[in-house]
Amino acid sequence: MRKPIIAGNWKMNMNPDETRAFVAAVKNELPDPSKVESVIAAPAVDITALVDAAKDSVLVPAAQNANDHESGAYTGETSPKVLADLGVKYVIVGHSERRGYYHETNEDVNKKAKAVFANGMKPIICVGESLEQREAGETEDWVSTQVEAALNGLSADQVQQLVIAYEPIWAIGTGKTATSDQAEEVCRHIRETIAKLYDQTTADATRIQYGGSMKPNNVKELMAQPDIDGGLVGGASLQPDSFLQLVHYQD
Ligand code: PEP
Repeated sequence: MRKPIIAGNWKMNMNPDETRAFVAAVKNELPDPSKVESVIAAPAVDITALVDAAKDSVLVPAAQNANDHESGAYTGETSPKVLADLGVKYVIVGHSERRGYYHETNEDVNKKAKAVFANGMKPIICVGESLEQREAGETEDWVSTQVEAALNGLSADQVQQLVIAYEPIWAIGTGKTATSDQAEEVCRHIRETIAKLYDQTTADATRIQYGGSMKPNNVKELMAQPDIDGGLVGGASLQPDSFLQLVHYQD
């Protein structure tokens, strides 16, 4: 019922030539898009190359961030309107690196999610706890607060179209993957939170990804969990071979 979505988050890696070479290497090998959605979120400076190279393929172009304004005096920022005009379909919002290094708040994440929708794209909203929060038993409360704040003012129809990425901060880029039970527990809690905020139909339709050192050797087990509908993948999405293994996890 929920179509799996595997999204690579390249972070601040790759240049336009590398982007074109990556897409050329994967574009004819991607899975049937009715079975798995294959997404790459490139740096803003590579978006044009990504969209051009992915034309006539099933690879879905995404961005890693956008401002909540469409234009104006916001030096150094990226307009969601221009991203949409270029052909971007998804925008990652509230990645823990943006929350941590650039001080994005839950309110910023909510504004950005709304701006992404206002421009005809869909947000991939990241949530997740630190190691200290996990050890203090605060994970579920923290994550449901992040989800509630991010969705504030969004309609049930919008929530059914967006993607939530559960990314425990302690598992991102560390090689420490959450066990499939740990990941499932929080993804289920996120779905229950959406059901409480909206209704069961909305919760059942919303796709929830796991992110945090997802790799070809653990993707199958994570994707077998009932509330995990996809992956947001950093390091393992940078090589065509490993990205292809991830999107072909069903084979
Ligand atoms: C990410 O960037 O969202 C991520 C999960 O990174 P990694 O897969 O490298 O842990």
